[in-house]
Amino acid sequence: MGRGLSMFNADQRLVMCNRLYREIYQLPARLTRPGTSLASIVRYHVRRETGRDDAGERAKQRAWIKGHVAQLARGKTFVHVQRLKSGRIVQVTNQPLAAGGWIDIQEDITERRRAEERIDWLAHHDPLTETANRTQFGNELEHALLQLKHGSSFALHWIDLDRFKAVNDTLGHPAGDALLKSVAKRLLKAVRKPDLVARLGGDEFAVIQVGATRAEAEVLGKRLVKALREPHLALGHRLETSASIGIALAPEHGTNADELMHNADLALYRAKAAGRAASVVYEPARDTHGCARGVLEADLKRALAEEQLELHYQPIIDSRTSAVNSFEALMRWRHPERGLLAPGEFIGLAESTGLIIEIGAWAIRRACTDAATWPAPIKVTVNLSPVQFESGDLYETIVGAIASSGIDPQRIEVEITESVLLRDDPKTHALLHKLRDLGLRIALDDFGTAYASLSYLRSFPFDKIKIDRSFVRDLNSVRREDSIAIIRAVASLAKQLQMTSVAEGVETAEQIESVLVAGCDELQGFYFSTPVPAGDVPGLLSRGAPTRPRQRSVAIDGVDLMGATARRA
Ligand code: C2E
Ligand code: CA
Ligand code: CA
Repeated sequence: MGRGLSMFNADQRLVMCNRLYREIYQLPARLTRPGTSLASIVRYHVRRETGRDDAGERAKQRAWIKGHVAQLARGKTFVHVQRLKSGRIVQVTNQPLAAGGWIDIQEDITERRRAEERIDWLAHHDPLTETANRTQFGNELEHALLQLKHGSSFALHWIDLDRFKAVNDTLGHPAGDALLKSVAKRLLKAVRKPDLVARLGGDEFAVIQVGATRAEAEVLGKRLVKALREPHLALGHRLETSASIGIALAPEHGTNADELMHNADLALYRAKAAGRAASVVYEPARDTHGCARGVLEADLKRALAEEQLELHYQPIIDSRTSAVNSFEALMRWRHPERGLLAPGEFIGLAESTGLIIEIGAWAIRRACTDAATWPAPIKVTVNLSPVQFESGDLYETIVGAIASSGIDPQRIEVEITESVLLRDDPKTHALLHKLRDLGLRIALDDFGTAYASLSYLRSFPFDKIKIDRSFVRDLNSVRREDSIAIIRAVASLAKQLQMTSVAEGVETAEQIESVLVAGCDELQGFYFSTPVPAGDVPGLLSRGAPTRPRQRSVAIDGVDLMGATARRA
């Protein structure tokens, strides 16, 4: 690159300069002639860089020159760095001359500086999301902990995206990356300036909320959950995700990093267990006993042996006849200390520990035995976890359950989610076909929550599509028009493919009205009944189906609500 070079005499006037010197400061010819004063060069330069040329500024320049010359007069070389408006970074070396005056050497260090800054930046940031990385998070956490001594407080939010893996697996890493970027952007937008947003790896983020009280932490937690819930546009996909957040407060829940992170993690685990898309503040009493993973896992192992598991049944209603077509079996765990637990609190754990294979097999047998006592042709619907497909003896389990209960296989439905098909394993496809050959019906559950839904519909000839309850829920929100359009499209696609469409999670008469108009064949939701214990099924069936929808009421207490049924508008 070469260097800029200039020489000034003891009177602070230019003796000579080279081309690069003129270029760096973009000096006009009149200011590069010998005899030009340093003052006029500085004045021109400042005006170029800052636009300022007032009396105050000129006084400042005179003071600067005075200091500069005084420093040179001490006879030592010195160096300073200038950042120019153009973005150039210039290192200036001033060498005093024996006879008075000095030489300036300008070196363009823009590239070097940028590289250094980048390296420094990379050491403290996650390059993908441009948020702080684990190192920087650790530094900031230590810093915040030190501040506690001065009476301050802060909150640590531990954030984990729900079902992020599904995006990566179905749409590929570029889409996953785009989603992470969008998530980071929303987090950054939702926090205040002094707060820190960090990506700790994978789909885990953290926020250090500086100076926060419990109330403020709760507010921010809720705001973050809400912000992440809005659909993300990423590489042309409309991606939906949600986040679970565990919050630990300092100093209340810990005064060192390990303790705080551990407690935030326990709270996060409870947020996930409570059904995800929630923020939860650490509570010593609940999080250390009831929810610690290890304890729960040991409990779950015992649950099967000690017959603490139950199946509850929720009716699925024919939208033409208002009759009950089937009952979906939904697992419950009657925990000796914690009461009746919903699957959200233990299925994930059962899947990650492999216990789901045994538990799932139990559910299949139990469901067949229960359903064999119901009047035909009422069906039973069993949920299957992707993990059960990996184990190898699912087919034998199902055949065994049919044989020992004596139920007609045509009265059995199984529900799988798209994640079962994710790996595109020929063995899975073969197994599903074998089940159909037995006479079982196969339903695609939670349709619309994963990301490549349509391609999965084509990859296997499902008998049924269950439209995820989030679309029905959105009928009451600003996204109403979108969700009507989606429900209608899915219902009509199902018709074309000769599949049955089910609307999940209908709670109100208005929602029923909408999904019926959209053309759904079957309805399921609290409006008709919550899931009820097996013993309540006969009563629920004998109550029959009246012809008029109930008023507005949201059904929440099970059997009694079966009185209600929908009709076409
Ligand atoms: P899912 O298969 O989508 O089951 C429907 C869930 O929606 C049930 O939650 C049901 O209680 C709830 N629900 C039904 N109607 C309404 C409504 O109108 N409003 C609202 N807000 N919710 C409604 P539940 O019983 O907590 O089950 C959650 C999930 O756990 C199930 O979602 C299913 O994926 C899984 N699951 C349940 N039982 C089993 C099982 O035996 N095996 C496996 N692998 N998974 C199971
Ligand atoms: Ca289901
Ligand atoms: Ca579902």
